[in-house]
Amino acid sequence: MPGQHDHHVVIVGGGFAGLWATRALGRAPVCVTLIDRANHHLFQPLLYQVATAGLSSPDIAAPLRHILRHQANVEVRMAAAEQIQPLQKNLRLDDGDTIAYDTLVLATGVTHTYFGHDEWAPHAPGLKTLDDALHLRRRLLLAFERAESETDPQRRAAWLSFAIVGGGPTGVELAGTLAEIARHTLRREFRHIDPASAQVRLIEAGPRVLAGFPEALSEKARAQLQRLGVEVVTGTAVDDITAEGYRLGGEFVPARTVVWAAGVAASSLARSLGVALDRAGRVPVSADLTVPGHPEIFIAGDLATLMQNGRPVPGVAPAAKQMGRHVGRTIAARLAGQPVAPFRYRDYGNLATIGRMAAVVDLHGLRFSGLLAWWFWLAAHIFFLIGFRNRIVVLLNWFMAYWSYQRAARIIVGHRADDSRDDIEPG
Ligand SMILES: Cc1cc2nc3c(=O)[nH]c(=O)nc-3n(C[C@H](O)[C@H](O)[C@H](O)COP(=O)(O)OP(=O)(O)OC[C@H]3O[C@@H](n4cnc5c(N)ncnc54)[C@H](O)[C@@H]3O)c2cc1C
Repeated sequence: MPGQHDHHVVIVGGGFAGLWATRALGRAPVCVTLIDRANHHLFQPLLYQVATAGLSSPDIAAPLRHILRHQANVEVRMAAAEQIQPLQKNLRLDDGDTIAYDTLVLATGVTHTYFGHDEWAPHAPGLKTLDDALHLRRRLLLAFERAESETDPQRRAAWLSFAIVGGGPTGVELAGTLAEIARHTLRREFRHIDPASAQVRLIEAGPRVLAGFPEALSEKARAQLQRLGVEVVTGTAVDDITAEGYRLGGEFVPARTVVWAAGVAASSLARSLGVALDRAGRVPVSADLTVPGHPEIFIAGDLATLMQNGRPVPGVAPAAKQMGRHVGRTIAARLAGQPVAPFRYRDYGNLATIGRMAAVVDLHGLRFSGLLAWWFWLAAHIFFLIGFRNRIVVLLNWFMAYWSYQRAARIIVGHRADDSRDDIEPG
């Protein structure tokens, strides 16, 4: 255990909430153990760029050990937490070890859910981790390769039929970028297919895409998507997904690539807390972000559910960072015997990109879309990336892509013989 302090803070999850909590404890008289099942902090907002071959994994992720190398009171441990024992104040890890804590910070985030249809998962992968992004990239790029070598026109059309389920920011970003790849990036590269003939469909069960944005911006987003060649379907839910396609409104649509960008389910670790959770499995927290009845356990980021001004604090990166920072400061203040204010979420606005040179921005009162919004989105994402190297690499990549439409990471790894492992069976 690092440092000479007695008070042991265990933080589970090195995402935005966990990392910001760790940093906020930099000068506190505590020793911190940061546990994550991955060895890196991941900038999830740019994950879709890895999935669509615009960026490589190291451009949007950095090793936690490296980020925290100068913070002497922290030890980083790569392991998955399996069970919390709140009465014993300890935590069981997947490597068999048990770790005792004085204060616990849970920041394990959320993942996607198939609304009770887990059998859809192999046919409609989601996007949450770097592994997910690389798997998706392979599937998207392979679909064009398969279409090129397919002679049967119907089966070829199924390889060129792409559906993205879920019209939130991730679905919109994926659909817009995929349409751009089909229309521009792959132009003139194939001999038997016209990639521009690919059908890219974005399916949203609710009445509009980007439901978290004002209605006028949702409409702008829809129009920008359609200009890019995306077919936007709203108000209809997908009712089945198989290896061959999906069923929408009672009609079966052949499609070899379906991507899942809907639903939120909390990390299962929270169940072992033994407290009531919300429907998505998130933990309702008090105003100081502790679990009611457990002042020594904090929840931060997407895993926490908290109402403020009659609305839930949203599951976005700025909220996770603010919660993490607040938790770190609260722990330090408590040990110093100082009073702590309740957590207040500061909402600075909402951004979403749609594709090359198209985005929507809502800064509460200042709303805009199109090219200006895209530049704003780009600057914000470069600014918030962790690591100087990442900022430079991403900036250069985007300038190249801007001028040439090319995407830097279009390499398919693995052999065709391995494809069945990725559930892409030959047609
Ligand atoms: C594809 C995608 C795009 C997004 N785009 C945006 C965007 O444009 N703007 C925005 O503001 N927000 C965006 N978000 C949401 C944003 O990324 C989340 O709100 C934010 O990451 C939440 O931070 P967190 O720390 O709570 O969880 P996470 O960042 O998810 O971190 C959780 C960490 O916990 C670790 N972990 C999980 N379970 C365990 C375990 N049992 N043991 C050990 N470690 C564990 C994980 O490895 C991970 O490092 C996006 C999310 C996704 C998935």
